[in-house]
Amino acid sequence: MGFLDGVKDELSFLGGFKLTFEHLTRPRVTRQYPEEKKPKQPRQHGRHVLNRYEDGMEKCIGCELCAGVCPADCIYVRGLDNPPDHPVSPGERYGYVYEINYLRCIHCDLCVEACPTEAITESKLFEFSFTNRADAIYTKAELLVDDAGKPQKLPWEDWRDADELHTSGWMRATSPSGSAAYEGEVQWSAELGYGVRPPEGGQSGRRDDAATGTKALRDVLETHLLDEDIPLDHRGMRGRIWRGKLSAERHKKQLEAARQRHKEAKATRAADKTTTRGADKTSEDAVDEASTAPAGPEVDS
Ligand code: SF4
Ligand code: SF4
Repeated sequence: MGFLDGVKDELSFLGGFKLTFEHLTRPRVTRQYPEEKKPKQPRQHGRHVLNRYEDGMEKCIGCELCAGVCPADCIYVRGLDNPPDHPVSPGERYGYVYEINYLRCIHCDLCVEACPTEAITESKLFEFSFTNRADAIYTKAELLVDDAGKPQKLPWEDWRDADELHTSGWMRATSPSGSAAYEGEVQWSAELGYGVRPPEGGQSGRRDDAATGTKALRDVLETHLLDEDIPLDHRGMRGRIWRGKLSAERHKKQLEAARQRHKEAKATRAADKTTTRGADKTSEDAVDEASTAPAGPEVDS
């Protein structure tokens, strides 16, 4: 092994930093959380809300479908007949007791899908914690939206920009039954404070990004970053040229490394062949010598 090979072997641990070095020149993706938060996607599954109609009536009819479909068994609902004098919901019954245990909820949104009246939907809030088990069980009084149709902001919850908006994003993205034929068709009732919400953006042209806060996939997939995170020189056409150059350099290096490896392998094979031939020749010579050597005197046994 030559001197250079020895040095290469000694420094081979630097290969472990390859990924780190590669990322040194890339735009930074980290944020100063929790002071600075990344905007959440419209379909983010967070803390639930119980919605009301525009006239203030509760949407929940106490049918218990959400509780039945919940895979974590964390919803407890009890329905009661509406009092004829002051009905709580437009239906025959209303949700008298409604509880969600957040120690169990996995935010799968099956309850949202199952609900026939869009009563239960989810906000984007996921930053909340408790100091005891009882606090983890949200009651109807906590889940029900306020008189302006906004989720109630409880003291132990960390609500930030627009977390309380788009509370029905998931329902509006999938309704009804996820059929593509109905994409963009409004099939849901109005909500207190918001009226009839626009459909969440999809793959068709029928989208209202300003109203729904939706970003088209093609806008985020190229870099996986929000625009504000990308330096000006890395955006648009300049960004494409920059990424193209980086990629060309990377490929050039990979090619050079592959060539070098191939060369070394060839040299090793050639050296092995020479050694084998040399060894074969030596053994052949030894055999020849043995066969031509004069026989010694026979020894009588
Ligand atoms: S989101 Fe899923 S786990 Fe949570 S309450 Fe709804 S159905 Fe249950
Ligand atoms: S939230 Fe919906 S599914 Fe659950 S009990 Fe109320 S109406 Fe039924």
